[in-house]
Amino acid sequence: MYKIMTPGPTQVKENVRLARAEECTNPDLDETFVEFYRETCQLISRLLHTEHETLILGGEGILGLEAACASLTEPGDRVLVLDNGIFGKGFADFVSLYGGVPRLYTVNGKKPIDPERLEAFLEKDHDYKYATLVHCDTPSGVLNDISALCPLLSRYGILTVVDSVSAMFGEEVRADEAQIDILCGGSQKAVSAPPGLTFVTISDRARQVMAERKAPIASFYANLRVFENYYQEKWFPYTMPISDIYGLRAAMENIAGDTDLLARHARIGEACRRALRDAGLKLHLESGFSNTVTVFEVPEQISASDILQRMREAHGILLAGSLGSLDGQVIRIGHMGSNANEADMRETMEALDDVLRSLGILLKENLGERFCHYLCGSPE
Ligand SMILES: *Cc1c(COP(=O)(O)O)cnc(C)c1O
Repeated sequence: MYKIMTPGPTQVKENVRLARAEECTNPDLDETFVEFYRETCQLISRLLHTEHETLILGGEGILGLEAACASLTEPGDRVLVLDNGIFGKGFADFVSLYGGVPRLYTVNGKKPIDPERLEAFLEKDHDYKYATLVHCDTPSGVLNDISALCPLLSRYGILTVVDSVSAMFGEEVRADEAQIDILCGGSQKAVSAPPGLTFVTISDRARQVMAERKAPIASFYANLRVFENYYQEKWFPYTMPISDIYGLRAAMENIAGDTDLLARHARIGEACRRALRDAGLKLHLESGFSNTVTVFEVPEQISASDILQRMREAHGILLAGSLGSLDGQVIRIGHMGSNANEADMRETMEALDDVLRSLGILLKENLGERFCHYLCGSPE
């Protein structure tokens, strides 16, 4: 087994794996499961600092994004798609698929979206039903400031759909303060449960907009309204993946009990970035570094696949390349969720040092030593 240090899926703790092995009831007919489901949803709402209802959907992270777009979009609706990365741009496809008219707001992918510039844009044109944005766009690791961008969009009467799949629980999310209407998460990133579940929080405004639609929602599986009154009626629109939800609950309880979680992500993210820079490597981003993933550029003389292969074969560690135009250009270290621990990160940085040197790269400093210098010595 490799040590997983990728930006999702991440390492899954033993108590989460064991929870998934628990004996199952019939989730359609046993009302105690409806209680369990609702309590799990309430726990997620609490951890995301929202009074709004959370729904857990039986599908991977992408389903949450698609369900938000399917449920809000009516044919001809104008939708603002904030794009400074691959996931950001990708929302436009979901909008089009459901008959909406996406307006891409595309900016430099090496920096976060600037709220002041967005405001100047909105001054001129703010006739949008909703906007989509990504908290951490994982292929580049750029972190957008949802606490500034979402209230700004709300002020212009634009609903907000936020993909925080790879940021939440590694970066702070206060959904109500940020006035987020639909917030999407997934099980396999900083939550550190296996892939398979998505969850969404839904504001009253969003719920109302869905209820007042003239055109029916052009999907069943991606229709958030089919869950309406599930609790009162003790009825789910489809059979819930009970074992996945047992695992998710254990993972959420791990998060609830981890008071150092965000601070630890911040310390590890910072130490990782500083160590890479000290060694003479180039970080991909100019600013807006997420503490869940670090992305550095592959030195010119060598290839990304050689680095990844040697990390696997000589050290048993799985790192990631990237997607789209970044494929082959960068390496990603995922230090989110259970991956974000000092011991595994230290081992990863030591191994990376060895691999880069073995490929002929002259590093200015030792990566493991520098990482420890910034992290291991710091008083807890
Ligand atoms: C991982 C991720 C998702 C979920 O999609 P995948 O199928 O795992 O790629 C959605 N949004 C973001 C930003 C992600 O990082």
